[in-house]
Amino acid sequence: MTPSIQSILISESQLQGRVRELGRQISEDYKDRDLVLLCVLKGAVVFLADLIRVLSIPVRCEFIQLNSYGNKTEPSHEIRVIQRLNDSLCQSDVLIVEDIVDTGGTLSFLMTQVKALKPATLKVCSLLDKPARRRKDTVIDYVGFEIPDTFVVGYGLDYAQKYRNLPYIAILDLA
Ligand code: 5GP
Repeated sequence: MTPSIQSILISESQLQGRVRELGRQISEDYKDRDLVLLCVLKGAVVFLADLIRVLSIPVRCEFIQLNSYGNKTEPSHEIRVIQRLNDSLCQSDVLIVEDIVDTGGTLSFLMTQVKALKPATLKVCSLLDKPARRRKDTVIDYVGFEIPDTFVVGYGLDYAQKYRNLPYIAILDLA
């Protein structure tokens, strides 16, 4: 059975406001650069869709699909690349767009993959940051919201592929 929603952690208007701020900052920082947003499927797709529409600079979008959770709420130790990267990132300013950084394992794995493609610069933008469970040293250049150690869904984030369509971030009732 799919667990129900316990409470709303970040409202739709809070999300939209913060995305606009991030968009302004990224547009300023990457003015006159060759920016590629690298979206990590599937969780970051809603965030990416809103973020690109508040950017005032031209950008390209690329996608990579990783699988670290499967249908559970605990990360697995093995991360698999499902959708591979091509060489279009070479010499570009790459900004990884993530939904959430939890232990940091996925991001650290992805950074290694992207660095091998020799981008001109590489930075990270994550909508959510859950620092309490961090195991890997990771620098997140743009953070939407820092959240407590709790499992969240909505705005692209799922539980067993469900709840991605919620317009807010919610805490799941796992009790
Ligand atoms: P990490 O490798 O940093 O532990 O986990 C990163 C990935 O785990 C995220 O991209 C996301 O897919 C998943 N994840 C981590 N925390 C949560 C959470 O609270 N809710 C959901 N839905 N996914 C999470």
